[in-house]
Amino acid sequence: MATTTTRPQLAYLAEQLDELKKKGTYFKLRVLEDEQAPECTFDGKKVINLASNNYLGLTTHPKLREAAIEATRKYGVGPGAVRTIAGTMRIHMELEEKIARFKNVEACVVFQSGFTANAGTVSAILGKEDFIISDELNHASIIDGARLSRAKILVYRHKDVAHAEEQIASVKDQPGRKLIISDGVFSMDGDIGPLPGLCDVAEKYGAIMMVDDAHSSGVLGRNGRGTIDHFNVHGRVDIQVGTLSKAIGAIGGYVCGSRDLIEFLYHRARPFLFSTSHPPSVTATCIAAFDVLEQEPELIENLWKNTRYWKKELGGLGFNIGGVNTPASETPITPIIVGDGRLTMEFSRELFNEGVMATGIAFPTVAEGKARIRTIMTATHTKDELDRALEVLKRVGKRLGIIG
Ligand SMILES: *Cc1c(COP(=O)(O)O)cnc(C)c1O
Repeated sequence: MATTTTRPQLAYLAEQLDELKKKGTYFKLRVLEDEQAPECTFDGKKVINLASNNYLGLTTHPKLREAAIEATRKYGVGPGAVRTIAGTMRIHMELEEKIARFKNVEACVVFQSGFTANAGTVSAILGKEDFIISDELNHASIIDGARLSRAKILVYRHKDVAHAEEQIASVKDQPGRKLIISDGVFSMDGDIGPLPGLCDVAEKYGAIMMVDDAHSSGVLGRNGRGTIDHFNVHGRVDIQVGTLSKAIGAIGGYVCGSRDLIEFLYHRARPFLFSTSHPPSVTATCIAAFDVLEQEPELIENLWKNTRYWKKELGGLGFNIGGVNTPASETPITPIIVGDGRLTMEFSRELFNEGVMATGIAFPTVAEGKARIRTIMTATHTKDELDRALEVLKRVGKRLGIIG
């Protein structure tokens, strides 16, 4: 028997869990029994998977799998130290050089995750005299980085460039540096950040411009180069963050920019300095993934073909897939807006019971009254899988009164 049960000093945690159960937002982790794939087994049940960020199906791509195994044979399983001590392997440098070339920037640094890339960068480059002008729907890792930096955070309304300008104008005579930061693609609504307008504002006020391209890497732009390429704002974004955990299929995050920015992060970004680097298998996997992006453009074409089909059919069933009181999705992330949190969770559970995995997302991850099921398309879903998922959505949606 386990020896650590909850002792009185931690009883308050159990009480808070009880609160979640009363509110209907308590969850159990769904456990994947096989591979992350369009059809797979969670908790012993075979389901069509609409919940992963595996946009291009790279989690199981044979070239990536082979690269991971070969790197393990050649270099072992771990780097043995943080990057600045003894944990920088040749293969780490190769990946960074590869990403920098791909993005057409001077330099790149890879972090353990997209989360640490954002939080580590924002907290390293700003201090308490400075200002961060941030979209209200930016990712938690940006918010945490902003808090760690102790800079003042000025939030602007979602994608509202005029409001971003108002915010920066209100502090333009103050001495601190200004950073404008936006997600490239917003993870809950699937809409795209207004980069050209934000770049204009940044240039007008001499602000640093930063974009988090977690959901755009491998999805938008030529061969998946992201939103900077999509909008052709090359040279106007000082700091580009991307993730290796979503479309790239493995784990990690990176920052692209000038050589000076990257050297500075080597010296000051705390996750770089104080947390061990990636194992060779991960790094080799990511190198192979960038080769696939360049060599197999049909994956991204398929992703968008599936996305168009999915949005058309879902909308046709009468679901609210965004655009009314919520932003309209422009990417493979398609929300089904339900509104009520409890009903959303019930919808998600019933879908699962009938063979469709689609995550319910409620307050506080999204605003109260805007709970939704989030669906994410991938390049590797077959039309048959999509049609079967649509049948289930239609049946359960009608039964719960979500569609007529
Ligand atoms: C997922 C995500 C991250 C974090 O990336 P990880 O590599 O999973 O840590 C950062 N920013 C945004 C916008 C994300 O969606």
